[in-house]
Amino acid sequence: MPQTEEGQHPGSGESGGATPRPGRLAALARWLDTEAGAPDPRAPAPRGTRRVDWLRVIPFAAMHLACLGVFFVGWHPAAVWTAVALYLVRMFAITGFYHRYFSHRSFKTSRPVQFLFAVLGASSTQRGPLWWAAHHRKHHRHADTELDVHSPRQHGFWWSHMGWITSAENFPTDMREVRDLARFPELRFLNRFDIVVPVLLATSLFLLGGWPFLIWGYFVSTVVLFHGTCLINSLAHQLGSRRYDTDDDSRNSMLLALITLGEGWHNNHHRYPGAARQGFFWWEVDLTYYGLKLLERLGLIRELRPVPARLLGHDR
Ligand SMILES: [Zn+2]
Ligand SMILES: [Zn+2]
Repeated sequence: MPQTEEGQHPGSGESGGATPRPGRLAALARWLDTEAGAPDPRAPAPRGTRRVDWLRVIPFAAMHLACLGVFFVGWHPAAVWTAVALYLVRMFAITGFYHRYFSHRSFKTSRPVQFLFAVLGASSTQRGPLWWAAHHRKHHRHADTELDVHSPRQHGFWWSHMGWITSAENFPTDMREVRDLARFPELRFLNRFDIVVPVLLATSLFLLGGWPFLIWGYFVSTVVLFHGTCLINSLAHQLGSRRYDTDDDSRNSMLLALITLGEGWHNNHHRYPGAARQGFFWWEVDLTYYGLKLLERLGLIRELRPVPARLLGHDR
């Protein structure tokens, strides 16, 4: 039985068709407007070219370089604690909202709270909620096959970790994958102008505490958060144990689960992507799930999808 046929939100088709090569101006404009210069923003890119869009990638590279600013602003406890807090809150937003809610619809919420979740997720600077969910749904459908855009088995560690992010073919959002989310204009707006929330966050930090807060609180925190998240695409398909014999290479790792607030139970997750929890057993620490349970108690979310009992008898 294919392991991803159940509990996963269905996508609706594979990529195809052609995408025009963006001119330099269009590439720059897309720093601000992800749909700039695209005749049909819904048209997916052709697969398999793995061409790096260097111009488009400059802000991403600059974010990494900006971390060197710590040598100028020095150690600043309040700024460092802000960085830690923003890492935790935004990792929770990525795992709880971008991943478990938008990508897998593993619980329900109201439209205003959904928007709030999208804003928090967008503050992580991992592009928009529709882009994130569209790529992730494809990952599950094609995990570790040649159609998986970030598979260490297919493309090696670095491409699966961050190379694929820089690739021209992976910039557009394939709206066919996320029709359920694209119904909401406020989500489409956040997805199109995915730089707005990060810029607001960075500006607020600068106004609040000057350069130390900007460097530590935004740049360092965001870059560490980015690589923490990416470890699930790279290492979580290489490091750890396999409880379930899935068709992909997904693995369970306590270390990765601690870094990512619960996403390290990746073999569990590939076995049953639709569950709100990824730590299937009490000893599999899944901080995101505990946070979601709290949000449920507060009445903000409801109908968390459980792990089917039949999957809990396979521990070894
Ligand atoms: Zn995976
Ligand atoms: Zn997933």
